[in-house]
Amino acid sequence: MVDKVIPVADLRYAAAVPRIPLTALVPTGNVADTLGRPLRDLRISVTDRCNFRCSYCMPKEVFDKDYAFLPQSSLLSFEEITRTARLFVAHGVQKLRLTGGEPLLRKNLELLIGMLAELRTPEGKPLDLTLTTNGSVLAKKAQALKDAGLQRITVSLDALDDAMFRRMNDADFPVSDVLRGIEAAQRAGLGPIKVNMVVKRGTNDGEIVAMARHFKGTGIVLRFIEYMDVGATNGWCMDEVLPSAQVIARLREHFPLEAMDANTTGETAARWRYADGGGEIGVISSVTQAFCRDCNRARLSTEGKLFLCLFANQGHDLRGLLRGDYSDAQIAAAIGLIWQGRGDRYSELRGAMQADAGAGARRVEMHYIGG
Ligand code: SAM
Ligand code: SF4
Ligand code: SF4
Repeated sequence: MVDKVIPVADLRYAAAVPRIPLTALVPTGNVADTLGRPLRDLRISVTDRCNFRCSYCMPKEVFDKDYAFLPQSSLLSFEEITRTARLFVAHGVQKLRLTGGEPLLRKNLELLIGMLAELRTPEGKPLDLTLTTNGSVLAKKAQALKDAGLQRITVSLDALDDAMFRRMNDADFPVSDVLRGIEAAQRAGLGPIKVNMVVKRGTNDGEIVAMARHFKGTGIVLRFIEYMDVGATNGWCMDEVLPSAQVIARLREHFPLEAMDANTTGETAARWRYADGGGEIGVISSVTQAFCRDCNRARLSTEGKLFLCLFANQGHDLRGLLRGDYSDAQIAAAIGLIWQGRGDRYSELRGAMQADAGAGARRVEMHYIGG
């Protein structure tokens, strides 16, 4: 099936209008794509705005005062997000992650969390409900998020050294505020907390050991992420990627580490533990060791476009259906059909596709689609 590409209200990324199948496609909780991968994880971007300007995500030169962020009317409402999430859950989604932009900048986010926390899987189980944040306003919000029904949280933190952190976020934001946010999340019981560090070789790789030392023994799982070629604005080059194998080698010079088994299929991080019982760390090797084979993640943009891969250049305009005269059954059927047609495995094909760079539609940006 080839979807027709038509212009939609916001033209920054191409979006196909999903087809409603003529024969009913009833969700079984086990929809699979062309590579046999189930749909288990839905990442929901609640805003495309952010108060940081991390160079790998929203470089200041591009995302300046003239940049046109989405207007309020484009955003999915909390009711629309919850309705969509419910339909994804019927297809097998067990995990919801709120992201952005900076999700804590979305007004009244606690209300949305409360609505999502009420969803149940077909077996009657609550969903794994989590959120990724830059931590800038977490100290103030952690308890309210927990009270609303958020279970756990992931905080992004690229350096402990204050000057380095301010350079990384390019908004002159102090590291102490994020550290206070992490402590508040711990106190509120938003655990197990994960801390994500994007490693850029030649920029913050000198912070790897200090970060490990800081979080060792705290129960917080620190994860090192390879700098990825997401979007088209961050000027990515392979020289700035520090392969996870080298991160582990550097850590091993200081701490004995043992490899662990994966928790779940489709997990992005390879897990390691300190041999002395100091806890766990992870490495996410999106560039050097693709994990597309088990990728069970779908992404819903702030304005309701469904993306099947972080590196997609085309979404599926679910908002058009949500705001049209369609029943839940029809929209669920459309979602099922889209997933059944999915064959994305960008990271596995990255090498071959680099040669193609620049051809075709623009790739989606990370702040728009979430991590
Ligand atoms: N603003 C929130 C935050 O930073 O946690 C949530 C959205 S952010 C886009 C989600 C995650 O994507 C963050 O952990 C961020 O570090 C990561 N990220 C953004 N651009 C990246 C890139 N080019 N390579 C690897 N990770 C990236
Ligand atoms: Fe903002 Fe997160 Fe992107 Fe940094 S990574 S610019 S904090 S959205
Ligand atoms: Fe999933 Fe696409 Fe990333 Fe592969 S490249 S793991 S398909 S999001």
